[in-house]
This record gives sequence, structure tokens and C-alpha cells, in this order.
Amino acid sequence: MRSIWKGHIRFSLVTIPVRVYNAIDTAQTIHFNQLHRECNGPIGYDKRCKKCNQIVKNEEIVKGYQYEPEQYVVVEPADLEKLKLASTKIIEIEGFVHTAEVHPTLYEAAKQMGLEGIMAKERRSPYLPGKRSASWLKIKTRNTTECVIIGYTRGKGDRAPLFGALHLGRYDGDRLRYVGKVGTGFDDRLLKTVFKELKGIPQGPRPVETRPVDDASTVWLEPRLVCEVEYASLTTERTLREPVFLRLRPDLDPGDCVDS
Ligand SMILES: [Zn+2]
Repeated sequence: MRSIWKGHIRFSLVTIPVRVYNAIDTAQTIHFNQLHRECNGPIGYDKRCKKCNQIVKNEEIVKGYQYEPEQYVVVEPADLEKLKLASTKIIEIEGFVHTAEVHPTLYEAAKQMGLEGIMAKERRSPYLPGKRSASWLKIKTRNTTECVIIGYTRGKGDRAPLFGALHLGRYDGDRLRYVGKVGTGFDDRLLKTVFKELKGIPQGPRPVETRPVDDASTVWLEPRLVCEVEYASLTTERTLREPVFLRLRPDLDPGDCVDS
């Protein structure tokens, strides 16, 4: 797979050489090779693996492409489906990076480039679409947004006296739209603080059209409280992927939570 951009990302005093790969690159045709599943070696005309020299049975032949001379990566049909659907770009950091050394500015750079995240990998480890080995590390760029708290699910287990998750909405014009629920990011103190606020909001009918699966165990509230959440990305339905609660935003009105 050829990179679509090669260059450097600079942050503070460090420069990292990077290559950007696009999962969807219509201008590029990827030529597939027949590979031996066991060793990723290319298969010759006599069905002999050029790497391990074994005669390979049909069921052991997989498709793959060459990403560097004599370096092949196996592509499963499922992986290809994933690539077509995702518009995720991947940055390969050619130099080594330790998690502790990754400066927050790097996340910003990735965010500005519209990337969902950065893939840092060891230089010699193979590129495996859709797979992540221990030598791969996905560093996510996070986004934040303000949402109206429109309800909560009743707590279970440890959280039985409190709440489980908060249902969130945002305004699309004057219509409140369901954007998902957040159940992580709370410590004990925050759970109690938020619950106390929730108890002060009048209950009402479900204020959004979408009926979530846990509708029956939800206490719906009038849309009055605003909170800030962090999320990885938006789904195609414009709901929040992997939201994490950050804080209540008493300084904001529900009407401030508008889709742009
Ligand atoms: Zn082989």
C-alpha cells in the first residue's frame, strides 16, 4: 500500500517522520498476490510457496498485497469490507515512539488533519489492516461536545442507588435529537453530584423520537441540564461513539447544544 502523503509532524523540538495512508484511495489499484496463509510467502505457478518452499493447498491460499519488497500482508475479505466503509486514514510513524513521549500537540495535529487517530507502530512490524498487534498502538484524538441530559437509566450493582448512564440529546433546529448515552467517566463523588442534580429536574415524557433499547429502565427528564462529554467520533447516525462524561455545564443553556 502506497502512502498518500509523506512528511513530518513537528511538535515542540521533536520532528517525527510520518506517512499517511488512505483506506479509500480510488486512484490506486492494489494488486493482490496469492499468499501462503501460514508464512505470508508468495505462491508461485506450481503452488509452491516461495518463502517456505512447501506445496500449498488451495484452502491455505489467501489474498494479500506487497507493501514493501518481499513484505506481504494478508487481506481477508472482511478486512476489505472494513476498509471500504471506513474513511479512516492511518499515519505510520516511521520513527519509534514511546507512549510517554507522545506530546499532546501530536493529537492536535492529527485532529486538524481530520484523522480519527494515530497509529503508532514499530517500524518493522507488518501492516495488518483491521488487526492490531502488541506493536501497534492506536492513539485516539478526542473531541468534546456539550449535550443536554434528557434522562438516565437506573443504576445496577454498585450503582443501584444512583444512575447507570445518562441519555443525551442535541438540538437540530428546534427538534431535540438523541445522540447516545454516557455511562463512563464518573467517579463516586461525581456520580453523587450528578444524581443530586438529576433529582432536581422534573420528569417527563421521552423528549426525543428515538426510543433506545433501555427505554423501559429509563427515567426521562425535561431537557434542562447540560453536560460536556468527550467522544472518539460520530457514527453515521450522528450519535457519539465512545462518549465519556467530563463535567456538568451549569453555565450553558440546553439551547446552546445545537448541531452546527
Ligand atoms: Zn510458506
